[in-house]
Amino acid sequence: MTTTRFAPSPTGYIHVGNLRTALMNYLIARKAGGTFILRIDDTDPERSKEEYVDAIKQDLEWLGLHWDKVERQSERLDRYAEAADKLRDMGRFYEAFETPTELDLKRKKQLNMGKPPVYDRAALNLSEAEKEALRAERGNGVWRFKLDHQRIEWTDGILGDISIDAASVSDPVLIRGDGQVLYTIASVVDDTEMGVTDVVRGSDHVTNTATQIQIIEALGGTCPRFAHHSLLTGPQGEALSKRLGTLALRDLREQGVQPMALLSLMARLGSSDPVELRADMAELIDGFDVTRFGAAPTKFDVQDLFPLTAKHLQSLPLADVADAVADAGVPADLAAPFWAMARENITTLNDLKGWWELCRDGAEPLIADEDRDFIAQAMGLLPEGPFDGDTWGAWTGAVKEATGRKGKGLFMPLRKALTGMERGPEMAALLPLLQVIRARG
Ligand code: GLU
Repeated sequence: MTTTRFAPSPTGYIHVGNLRTALMNYLIARKAGGTFILRIDDTDPERSKEEYVDAIKQDLEWLGLHWDKVERQSERLDRYAEAADKLRDMGRFYEAFETPTELDLKRKKQLNMGKPPVYDRAALNLSEAEKEALRAERGNGVWRFKLDHQRIEWTDGILGDISIDAASVSDPVLIRGDGQVLYTIASVVDDTEMGVTDVVRGSDHVTNTATQIQIIEALGGTCPRFAHHSLLTGPQGEALSKRLGTLALRDLREQGVQPMALLSLMARLGSSDPVELRADMAELIDGFDVTRFGAAPTKFDVQDLFPLTAKHLQSLPLADVADAVADAGVPADLAAPFWAMARENITTLNDLKGWWELCRDGAEPLIADEDRDFIAQAMGLLPEGPFDGDTWGAWTGAVKEATGRKGKGLFMPLRKALTGMERGPEMAALLPLLQVIRARG
């Protein structure tokens, strides 16, 4: 059975980059009728925070990316210790004692000699006595996985055939000196034991994947299918990593971005299929194909989310936005005509309040000197209430007859006098909502 996972580290809020990973894994699982696991990668007790675990769940729920199971790495440490023992018994695990400064120096030397900065395995030559002495002096060493120096190959769901020379990669550290288990092994143990069949993640993980394939094989597991999506850049192709902090999902929510707009964009951005606004999750699932994505960096412009949000909102019946309409202050008896008027004129639901304030308080009239008499005359012709969708037509008909004005010369001064703006909602829809005018009815 298809099983995927989204595996964030709870060290911050999730952003658009994380969402891409989450969504792809979610859609693969749902399309196949499989299982989607939310895995919290919290082996780092200092940086992992419960507050972020809660925030990640809230953000995924807001988007409707429901998970079937939650797993927490911090609750599985004994499983990782067992796997580590196994690697140790197999002779694929060794303790190394270099300090970060020493490693840095080695790397610099290698680079100066035009060699790739790969860990030289000096620790493999240490005798037991030397290790004992180093332990006494520096504390426990780190544990490195001894890679098999062969080519590591896989067919990537996005990148195609990949081949990496293991000799060009440093033996990965899987356990730190203080005993903390690192992601590289924890993830392998989880993917194997949880039956994960498909792993989609960012292309920054390609080297990890190479080493993880060898660890999985050493532990006797089955490799999932891997796919590595490109990383997002800003609209000009600039690195987004520094700005991702400002592209947290909760910030986008605050700015009024609608989940369907965000999901529709992310399910297609960087693929060879066009971005289309989808009505619901079923359509997203149906239209998703991970093999359509390309390896090139993907340009993301936050501004693209707003026209999609506006379009999505236009399609919604009142029932779907009733809370937001009420929150904007609109009385229940006006909610339906208000929404019918407003939905054509908003970008996000955050704009509702402004339109309601215009209806409730009126606007500073915009009246040109030459229109003063005309407006006074028109106001005198305003019919008795109650107002409805036909009132505007009847009124402007009467004004036209009385003044001889027509077209723009008739409508524009009335619009500006009533709304203070040259552009805006259909006046026929707006007029019955203007409270001062209603009061005359
Ligand atoms: N916690 C890892 C990350 O956020 C997970 C990577 C993976 O999907 O394996 O980068």
